[in-house]
Amino acid sequence: MLHRPLIQHCKSCGSPVTYRLPDDGDTRERAVCNDCHTIHYENPLNVVGTIPAWGNKVLLCKRNIEPRFGKWTLPAGFMELGETVAEGAARETTEEAGALFELQELFAMMNVTRVGQVHFFYRAQLTSDQFAPGHETQEARLFAEDEIPWDELAFRTVKETLQHYFADAKTGRFELHQVDIS
Ligand SMILES: [Zn+2]
Repeated sequence: MLHRPLIQHCKSCGSPVTYRLPDDGDTRERAVCNDCHTIHYENPLNVVGTIPAWGNKVLLCKRNIEPRFGKWTLPAGFMELGETVAEGAARETTEEAGALFELQELFAMMNVTRVGQVHFFYRAQLTSDQFAPGHETQEARLFAEDEIPWDELAFRTVKETLQHYFADAKTGRFELHQVDIS
């Protein structure tokens, strides 16, 4: 079951839409305009981010925006048109934390089908422990595993990514984690 706001009005003409099978043989219900018959296709969005590391610590950002205002997150956000997944992850890290870093391998790919999203997290090696957070972040700080505010994390994907990260860090072998979050 997908929990995402339904489209109410046509993006072309503003008339109300109805969720129904389009007349073109499509087998999924779409938001079809009652007036101009435009079909609105809705597809998953990619969320891209990093796990920036400094020694045995990772960088978390305290959110200055909704949703989850005041909760802690890894730097991440929606991928933009015209960029690769890796470029998006790097951009979000620069925007939200003002961090200096070298991007490393993809670490986690998480299907969040309930909200129609796929989250990608790359490892990143910080090259400075000085940060200049942007307007979306109240505070950017380094945390060792036993300092992580586990109950104050913004998203389940962030929590699971951090759990996998610290487990791998103990062995010194980082692998790609593919996770389905129901
Ligand atoms: Zn229309």
